[in-house]
Amino acid sequence: MSMMSFSIPRNIYYGEGALTQLAQLKGKKAAIVTGGSSMKRFGFLDQAAELLQQAGIESIVIDGVEPNPSVETVFRGAKAMQEFGPDWIVAIGGGSALDAAKVMWCFYEHPELKFEEIIEVGSMPPLRNKAKFIAIPSTSGTASEITAFSVITDVENHIKYPIVAADMVPDIAILDPAIPAKMPAHITAHTGMDVMCHAIEALASTAATSFTDPYATEAIKLVLNNLPQAYAQGDDLAARTEMHNASALAGMAFTNASLGLVHSLAHKIGGEFGVTHGLANAILMPYIIDFNRQFSDKYQKLEDALGIKDIAQAIRELNAKMGIPATFQQCDEVAFCPNKFEEVLERMSANAFADPCTLTNPGQPTVADVKAIYQASF
Ligand code: NDP
Ligand code: MN
Repeated sequence: MSMMSFSIPRNIYYGEGALTQLAQLKGKKAAIVTGGSSMKRFGFLDQAAELLQQAGIESIVIDGVEPNPSVETVFRGAKAMQEFGPDWIVAIGGGSALDAAKVMWCFYEHPELKFEEIIEVGSMPPLRNKAKFIAIPSTSGTASEITAFSVITDVENHIKYPIVAADMVPDIAILDPAIPAKMPAHITAHTGMDVMCHAIEALASTAATSFTDPYATEAIKLVLNNLPQAYAQGDDLAARTEMHNASALAGMAFTNASLGLVHSLAHKIGGEFGVTHGLANAILMPYIIDFNRQFSDKYQKLEDALGIKDIAQAIRELNAKMGIPATFQQCDEVAFCPNKFEEVLERMSANAFADPCTLTNPGQPTVADVKAIYQASF
């Protein structure tokens, strides 16, 4: 095997009270980037600004980042940053706020760039000439606080662009479990199954290395042992802490090993039907593990390590416990249109087959395999 590298943030602060680490920062000006209203509503936005003020850092807030953040939102934020001139960017919120802040940062550093010029892998110029980046996740899911990835949507053309750049790995991640403890139960369930999926897909990825398996296996163990409790008892900080750490651990695994077919198929379901990312992953996972078993012994090894019989079955049971249905037909988002379904199915199958996540799936499927999996899961 040729030389490899393993990239993660330089500092990860975790556990109750981790947010107070903001008061230790050295700098002058911070741009705080956040989503709709949750961080304001629960007081975390004001807390962050106060802690920064204790550090002698003046801050502004760039809010209103929507779920599936748009190109327009990214340029609005970059413009506000150019006017203010921050030396820190502090992203606090779900994966959407963190992803948007990463790309705002890019256009703050390089105002001359167009969106088209950063889409290709390896095309992003160096960051950190003007500012460094802190990520404070409010969901235990995407692990954007750890990863080199951001997903930005071209709303007009209904296209989600995955942006990949090693420089977008945050400098600092702050994992304070009091923040995700405010998530409602259904968001806990969906984002928690996204964590499971990141770990399972990194583990079985063709790009997995000896650095992948320990992080991924530990994340899976933590999700199995803590997600039901975080779902049933949202204010259980012990369960929230383990889920928040599990998300970051899974992020360390998949930012370096990439993902697989579940994410390929989920991306297209999201695009066609608006099914939430984590929910789509949760429904697809058991079908794809059953399909992938013929290509990989990683599932068997995982089951031996965990002392369970069948990981796909364990995921079905976890889904059922949290009210996640076994098929897409049972999702509220999926308005069924039988006469058009064959056409949609063909399009989704071709697009999922071509998704970059398919490249690292343990075995290479055909378009017909992809279609059969969609059919089974609908
Ligand atoms: P979002 O950031 O989209 O947030 C979903 C909803 O949850 C929002 O309405 C938000 O409200 C609310 N919310 C978030 N945190 C809390 C909280 N603590 N309490 C109450 N409500 C809360 O969700 P995700 O984290 O799942 O991010 C999904 C996005 O991330 C997608 O765009 C997906 O494509 C992308 N993604 C990125 C990856 C990466 O590596 N960068 C990997 C996988 C997916 P409000 O807006 O009011 O805060
Ligand atoms: Mn995901």
